[in-house]
Amino acid sequence: MPKQFSLPRGTADILPDQTPLWQSIEKKVHELCSIYGYKEIRTPLFEETELFARSMGQTSDVVLKQMLNIMPQNSSEDKEPKISLTLRPENTASVVRSYVENSIDKKESLTKLYYIGPMFRGERPQKGRLRQFHQVGVEVLGPGSAFPYLDVEVIALSVGILKALGLKNFTLKINTLGTSEDKENFSKYLREALALRLKDLCPDCQSRFERNVFRVLDCKVKTCKEIVKNLKLDLSYLSPDSRNYFDLVKQGLLQIGIDFTLDPRLVRGLDYYTHTVFEITGSSLGSQDALGAGGRYNNLVGELGGPQIDAIGFALGVERIILALGETQTVEDSIDVFLIAMDEISFMKAFTLLNILRSSGIKSDMSYRLSSMKSQMRSANKLNAKLVIIIGEQELRKEMVTLKNMKDGSQKEVSMKNNNYEQLIKILTERS
Ligand code: AMP
Repeated sequence: MPKQFSLPRGTADILPDQTPLWQSIEKKVHELCSIYGYKEIRTPLFEETELFARSMGQTSDVVLKQMLNIMPQNSSEDKEPKISLTLRPENTASVVRSYVENSIDKKESLTKLYYIGPMFRGERPQKGRLRQFHQVGVEVLGPGSAFPYLDVEVIALSVGILKALGLKNFTLKINTLGTSEDKENFSKYLREALALRLKDLCPDCQSRFERNVFRVLDCKVKTCKEIVKNLKLDLSYLSPDSRNYFDLVKQGLLQIGIDFTLDPRLVRGLDYYTHTVFEITGSSLGSQDALGAGGRYNNLVGELGGPQIDAIGFALGVERIILALGETQTVEDSIDVFLIAMDEISFMKAFTLLNILRSSGIKSDMSYRLSSMKSQMRSANKLNAKLVIIIGEQELRKEMVTLKNMKDGSQKEVSMKNNNYEQLIKILTERS
């Protein structure tokens, strides 16, 4: 027996009964992003490994443990130097790379972009944590992006997307890291405060203490959590300007009625964040409860060889959103009309009509071989047809079709005299 293959661990098939839900999510995201003035960008699924290492930081968990690298096949004819490539673990770095490479900053002072697509991380799979998952995200870049009301807009859009998708039970947490200098002060303060308890931290946090002390703040280990809980975190590391910036962000959120919780422990794991950071958690999700997260990254564009301009973005996890929506969330898939032919001559007529209806944009289908009325009706039900067109000997003789409403069972005759389909198409278009 030839080997049967199965899914790679941590990936999932999105089967035809689930794709209507995915398509409806994608449609709402496209609509809402367009309402907010964002344009879609599509970048490759893989990039140079170094791009992610430089942007996310050599010490981030993603870069240290989760990068899925691609090994290009060696070819003797291939004269190009071998470059290490990695499947994108997130999309911010790719969008910034594209922004810089295409000199978009020379064309406009504010660029508002969004994306939907798969991301890849070599994590240990569990519920809500996959190796290939999907994100919806936005990135706003440009000299015109350094304003607190843009932070408010970006947060409002992330909340707006979740609400438009039908989510109710989620919490928005916000914090600020300030400028690079503020961050430096904060990290110094944290090191001093944690130094006395260093030996009580988990082994991971002991190494985080050296390489990325902020990560100690979101460690899930009980003893670390207890130590972190007792730290005095009051934003005293912020400069007056950074404090003022954050005040304006909070004020803007209140102004447009967006509820939030202040969380001084929220730091995000990546090096590139500055100023506002935020995270949205779902209350029904268990241990993997982050629906999405984002923040400002004012130094990244410069660090990736572009101009010194500010930027901000977020990413939401689509699989987590679907989990949070729960089992009940299915999108009804249906067709406008199913054609039923009673005999071979009617079959020819029905097949011609099927193609005319489809050319007129009417979602229609039929069986590809003659079978009993009962069996064709079963197929119509399976496809959730709203209407059925029946063509048989009587219909051919009278040059009409019988139109049956599948909801209430009512039937009527619609004329097709001299092959004039207009009346039928008009009725079907009005109903679809
Ligand atoms: P991050 O870039 O880690 O902040 O991720 C942003 C969002 O993407 C998270 O809040 C999750 O909703 C989602 N996400 C991140 N990693 C995974 C994963 N391995 N599996 C499923 N969803 C993920």
